[in-house]
Amino acid sequence: MAPSARTVTTVRCTCGAVELAVTGAPTTCVACYCDDCQAAARQLEALSNAPPLLNESGGSEFVVYRKDRVAVARGADNLKSYKLKEGSPTNRRVATCCNAPMLLDFDDAKWWVDIYRARYRENVPPLEMRFCTKFKPAGAVIPADVLTHPGYPFRLIRKQVLARLAMLFGR
Ligand SMILES: [Zn+2]
Ligand SMILES: [Zn+2]
Repeated sequence: MAPSARTVTTVRCTCGAVELAVTGAPTTCVACYCDDCQAAARQLEALSNAPPLLNESGGSEFVVYRKDRVAVARGADNLKSYKLKEGSPTNRRVATCCNAPMLLDFDDAKWWVDIYRARYRENVPPLEMRFCTKFKPAGAVIPADVLTHPGYPFRLIRKQVLARLAMLFGR
């Protein structure tokens, strides 16, 4: 059953010391095949006991949420930011207790966060699209189960714009 607007879903690290509380339904749920996501996965998978990050076709699966719908309910001190490059606005926040990556957020004005889908144990959102597939690892076969796009699909941009408008108008 899809979560209602008020459903609070708890998203936990592997050991449970870090908990996110996310409210309502996500904007979308995606798999990204870009070079940065692959490089970040290699970086974070190298941490001790880290869970695998890429799906079977080399994508990184994220649940996209408006950032006003996501709160760190427990273990905020355990979250450590990793950046691919010095000065990059993108933070990949890892629960240092068990090296489980939790989410991506941004130092600039972006209004969303991307939560690692593998951290969901309840209300797991279905995958809706796979994008940046032109960067997929050599030989990877992208399943034809959902919308795929070599770059960024219009449906993603549209969903992001609508989410931003809803946020601005307090809905
Ligand atoms: Zn943990
Ligand atoms: Zn990516």
